[in-house]
Amino acid sequence: MPGYCVDRFPNLSAEDREEYTCSICQDIFNTPVTTSCRHTFCEDCITEWLESNTTCPNDRKRLSPRKLSPASLQHMSAPVMLINKMNADMRDKTVAIIRKMLAKHNTVSDVCKHAVDCMDLEFGTDWQCLAEWCAGTQRYLNPKKGFYLRVKFTPITFTMYHSKRARLERNKIVRQLDNIETDMKASMVSVVTGIVLDAIDRSSSIRKTARNIEARMESRYEGTKWVCFLYDHGGYRINRY
Ligand SMILES: [Zn+2]
Ligand SMILES: [Zn+2]
Repeated sequence: MPGYCVDRFPNLSAEDREEYTCSICQDIFNTPVTTSCRHTFCEDCITEWLESNTTCPNDRKRLSPRKLSPASLQHMSAPVMLINKMNADMRDKTVAIIRKMLAKHNTVSDVCKHAVDCMDLEFGTDWQCLAEWCAGTQRYLNPKKGFYLRVKFTPITFTMYHSKRARLERNKIVRQLDNIETDMKASMVSVVTGIVLDAIDRSSSIRKTARNIEARMESRYEGTKWVCFLYDHGGYRINRY
């Protein structure tokens, strides 16, 4: 079977289209394989080509069917959005994260593991990533609540979702301080308060705020190590150590 018709990938950018197009059938890769000269084609296209040719159609280098290997993960296929319950910005970031991990890691479980780390850092809650092969037997997961998306990089479908318990952090902490308990001297409290307010103003997310506070405390009080814990109103700790 040759490649997939490009009409099936309505969100494909011109750049991606080029990246994922088989030069033999001019369609989107279907079961891509990579040659020893690092060119990628649909498996069926290049196999058929090699029945009557002995060179790579792209650069005319010598090629035999034995020199074909499954394409690296980043060539799996162009992303197809199956379900999206995210806003445009979050969706784009999530797809970019999965794509980046596909390019970096060689196994699907590593892709999921590292994509989840990136999602946790970017969006500040506990994410899960499920990968299913087209012909696989993994259960179909369809979260009912919260932000999630299913995106298919043929032949693998990724579902990225966050667990029910965690909620997404707001991007900013409200700039209002109540001093609940301290054993610092008044002069130190005022220094720390200044550092905290400044970190809130300068940081784009709650996690970054915590890291910023720690870094500033450590440079203000040299030689000491500081840890900043953040809790939400329900007492659930937001950042982990
Ligand atoms: Zn093809
Ligand atoms: Zn070639």
